[in-house]
Amino acid sequence: MEVVRCSRCGAFYTNGGYVCPKCSDRDNFELATFKSFVEENGVNVNSLNQVSISTGISEKNLNRFLGYEGLEGYKKLFK
Ligand SMILES: [Zn+2]
Repeated sequence: MEVVRCSRCGAFYTNGGYVCPKCSDRDNFELATFKSFVEENGVNVNSLNQVSISTGISEKNLNRFLGYEGLEGYKKLFK
């Protein structure tokens, strides 16, 4: 079993996934918020700082989301 450290809260967990079970609801929620923000604002979105201010999601977490599977296309928006 692989033990990884949650990048949100620092807890160790073994069930896979991007964050620990305790954080996964919040992580999914913020990921969905991020996605809909980009969908609604499209090309006008070009800095993570701007997204962070508008959505309340920290830049650190936004940066992590860009590494998630399925968000490859988003990376191009934020250089
Ligand atoms: Zn956690």
